[in-house]
Amino acid sequence: MRALTYRGPHRVRVGDKPEPRIEHPRDAIVRVTRAAICGSDLHLLHGLVPDTRVGSTFGHEFAGVIEEVGPEVAGLKPGDRVVVPFNIACGDCFFCRRGLTASCERTNPNSSLGSGCFGYSHMTGGYEGAHAQYVRVPFADVGPMKIPDDMDDESVLFLGDIFPTGYQAAEMGEIKEGETVVVFGAGPVGLFAAKSCWLLGAGRVIVVDRYDYRLRMARDWAGAETVDYEEVDDIVSYLQEMCGGGRGPDVCIDAVGCEASGSALHTFLGKLKIEAGQPTALEWCIHTVRKAGNVSIVGVYGPPWNLVPIGTAMNKGLTLRMNQCNVKRYMGYLLEQIRAGRVDPRGIISHRLSLEEAPRAYHLFENKEDDCMKCVLLPEAA
Ligand code: NAD
Ligand code: ZN
Ligand code: ZN
Repeated sequence: MRALTYRGPHRVRVGDKPEPRIEHPRDAIVRVTRAAICGSDLHLLHGLVPDTRVGSTFGHEFAGVIEEVGPEVAGLKPGDRVVVPFNIACGDCFFCRRGLTASCERTNPNSSLGSGCFGYSHMTGGYEGAHAQYVRVPFADVGPMKIPDDMDDESVLFLGDIFPTGYQAAEMGEIKEGETVVVFGAGPVGLFAAKSCWLLGAGRVIVVDRYDYRLRMARDWAGAETVDYEEVDDIVSYLQEMCGGGRGPDVCIDAVGCEASGSALHTFLGKLKIEAGQPTALEWCIHTVRKAGNVSIVGVYGPPWNLVPIGTAMNKGLTLRMNQCNVKRYMGYLLEQIRAGRVDPRGIISHRLSLEEAPRAYHLFENKEDDCMKCVLLPEAA
């Protein structure tokens, strides 16, 4: 089959690979019809995720058709259309029973951090990803959700990652009716977080980034107010002034993660690997949010240390919540939100490209070229 493979930092290419096979009775093989590129894939591309091996295939946000199922996969059969959570979860361990599939303790036993994931380095189990024509789905009786006949693949594709991630970001913010939320990052995750804030009753949503076209999307698609952090002197005091005349917003969401820009100091320390990337957006969240407010982190950080102002957070009495998304627990509810017309995820897709063009898609997304918001690969188109 054809698949994208990692060749080392900043290099991916498409080549031939053996087709995956059923290795366990609970596996399924999925023929990929749509696979998106996620901001998390950029951390892999940049060589920032430990144990990302040359030859591995990325891709953890995908929909497709069941080709084959192992003998213990009840409820799925060849021909079923499915969307698959990025977490690989057993469905039955201590964490899975509590809905915490991102913490499944069986699918990535070498790590004490989190569950297995598709296409996300050997740190998350070394599973192959879906930027390929076919992908093996372990525990296929647990994760995949059937796509209703009346819905197309692109409407539900982002239920495998960024829509639940954005929703969980808003949920961890513990937004109360009418509260004001600032979302840092107008990438796909930030946009879904902003949209989800409205679903959870926010009274005001402000999105911060530095790309005009992304801020425009935050206004047009997510109905948010926007601020370009490069256009203001001091983003923290600017936002505090905007919210409660200096008090600050009730909730801040970090939808940026470890590759943030905006601080020369963090960029310097991050490049030297004195800290794990640059936690600039997180620092801004902690300083901006009002006293006793909530900071919700879904932007990804690596395991080593970061210089975050924990003393400020402590003295302000903040609640900090964070996680990889427990995708499965939100899929059914968010599917209903899409069906009810409250959110149309297709609106953020800026590029549709064949699998052969995947390296170009990564390039466009990474460099924010051609107003790139979200790339969807079509592995069926040669
Ligand atoms: P993206 O790279 O498209 O978007 C990030 C945006 O943040 C960019 O538009 C960038 O300009 C902006 N940005 C950079 N520095 C900033 C700053 N200091 N303040 C405000 N904005 C800033 O990526 P994405 O797909 O939207 O993903 C965002 C983050 O979410 C990534 O770290 C990704 O790994 C993470 N993620 C987490 C989960 C999870 O389960 N927790 C799931 C999916 C993605
Ligand atoms: Zn992702
Ligand atoms: Zn489990």
